[in-house]
Amino acid sequence: MQTYGHFINGEWVESKETIPVLDKYTGEEYARIGKASKEIVTEAVDQALKTFQTKKLSPAERYEILMKAAEIFKERKEKLAMILVREAGKVLKDARQEIERGIQTFIASAEEAKRIAGRGIPLGQPGSENKMAFTIRVPVGVVGAITPFNFPFNLTAHKVGPAIAAGNTVVLKPAQVTPISACEMVDILTEAGLPPGFLNLVNGSGRETGEYLLEDDRIALFTFTGSPGVGRHIKSKTGIRKVALELGNNSPNIVHKDAPDVDKAVQLCVTRGFSNAGQACISVQRVYVHRDLYESFTQKAVDVAKSLKVGNPEDPQTDIGPMISENEAQRAEAWIQEAVQQGAKVICGGKRHGAVLEPTILVDVKPEMKVVCEEVFAPVFTIVPYDDIDDAFRQAQDSNYGLQAGLFTSDLQLALRAAHELHFGGVIINDVSTYRADVMPYGGVKDSGIGKEGPHYALEEMTDEKLVVIDL
Ligand code: NDP
Repeated sequence: MQTYGHFINGEWVESKETIPVLDKYTGEEYARIGKASKEIVTEAVDQALKTFQTKKLSPAERYEILMKAAEIFKERKEKLAMILVREAGKVLKDARQEIERGIQTFIASAEEAKRIAGRGIPLGQPGSENKMAFTIRVPVGVVGAITPFNFPFNLTAHKVGPAIAAGNTVVLKPAQVTPISACEMVDILTEAGLPPGFLNLVNGSGRETGEYLLEDDRIALFTFTGSPGVGRHIKSKTGIRKVALELGNNSPNIVHKDAPDVDKAVQLCVTRGFSNAGQACISVQRVYVHRDLYESFTQKAVDVAKSLKVGNPEDPQTDIGPMISENEAQRAEAWIQEAVQQGAKVICGGKRHGAVLEPTILVDVKPEMKVVCEEVFAPVFTIVPYDDIDDAFRQAQDSNYGLQAGLFTSDLQLALRAAHELHFGGVIINDVSTYRADVMPYGGVKDSGIGKEGPHYALEEMTDEKLVVIDL
C-alpha cells in the first residue's frame, strides 16, 4: 500500500501522522496520506513564494509543460481512471470521462498561456491628450488551491492548469478523502518538466491543513471549489486578498410543453440527475414539468431510472456507484424520509445499501422541503408540475443558489427571455443544468460563488490587470 506525503520544492516529504484513504465501494484501506503540520504548510508556502520571486517560466515554456503533461495523462488514462474508481467510488465510464475532460482542461490552459493580453485604454479626457495607456496582465503570486471530493482530477486541473499557465506558483490541498489523483497529477507535471517549487501539495484535512493555508497571508489568491459553508469561511478569513469560489447549487430544470424532444429531456434529466451519484454541483435536482407533459414525463423518468445499473463502480456496465461515504448516503436517505413524512412520494428508489443510494425520484414535494430548497448532493431529484411558465421561472429562482439552470423549449423568444430573466451564472437551453464544456465561463451568482472558471476566465482571476501610462 502506498503512502503519499507532501510535495514541496520538487520532493515528496513524509510526515509523522498519516490518514487512511478508503476504497469508497469496498470500504477497505487503499492508500495513506500524510497530515501536514503547520510547519509543513509554512515550508510549502515558503518554497512557492521563493520560486515565484526567483524563477520565471516563459509563456512558451508553460505551454510546452502543460501540453506534455496532457500527453502523459493520455498515456496513463486507464491507471488514472482506476484511481478515481477507488478513491471516489466513481463508476468506470464516468472516471474515464473525467480524465478525458481533465486532459482537455490542461490543453486549454496550455493554449491560454500564449494568449495572456491586456487591452488598450482610451484616455479621451481633457488634460490627457499627450498620454497613451494600456494594461498588461501579471501573475498574482502564490495561489492556494483547495479542491473537493466529487471531481478530484478535473476540478484540480481547473485550478492547477490556469494557475501555472498564468505564471503563478501553487500550493494545492486536495480533499483528504480523494487526494491520490492529485498526487499523481503533481508527479506527472514534474515528469513533464515543471521545475521544483512551482507546484507544491500539502495533504490533510480542511480543518487543520486548510486552516494553516488560510492563515498564511503570503498566499495572494485562493481558488476554492466546495460547499457554501466553507466558501463563506474562506472569504471571511482572507480579508482583502482575492478569492475565486465555486460553490453549490440545487439546479432547476424546466421542461416546457413545447420541448423539442421530450424523450431526450427525460433521458438527460435522469442520467444527469444521477450521474456521479448526484454529487455534482450542477446535478439536476428540481425538475419543473408543464402539466400537459407531467404524467408521461414522470412515467418515462421512472422507466429510465429503473433501467440504470447500480452497484460496483469497477464494472464497466455500472451507471451509479456509491456516494462518497456511508454517512453521506445516510444523510441523503434521512432527507428523503423527512420529505416523505412531510407529504412527498417516492416514485422510484429511496433505499440505501451501505454507501449506495438507489436513484430516487420524488413527487408531491413542497418548496420548503430540504430535498428541494437545499443542495441534496445525492442521486435524488424532484418533479413538480406547473401550469404557467412565469410560475416555473419564479420557482426555479426561488433559491439561495444561482449556478446553472436548464430549459427545454422550441420557442426562441421564451429561450431568450429565460436567458435574461433567470438569475444564474449560466442558462442552458435544450440541455440540462449539468452541461459543462471545460472551456466555457463557469461560475455562479448568489450563494453559488464568486468568479469564473474555464481556463481563459480563470486566468483572468489569477492575474492582476496592471495599467501602464506613457507621457508622449
Ligand atoms: P467541502 O467544502 O466540505 O470541502 C472542499 C474542500 O475544502 C476540501 O478540500 C476540504 O478539506 C476543504 N476544507 C474544509 N474545511 C476547510 C477549512 N476550514 N479551511 C480550508 N479548507 C477547508 O466540500 P466537499 O468536498 O464536500 O464538496 C462538495 C461541495 O462542493 C458541494 O457543495 C458542491 O456543490 C460543491 N461543488 C461545487 C462545484 C462548482 O464548480 N461550483 C463543483 C463541485 C462541487 P477536507 O475535505 O479534506 O477536510
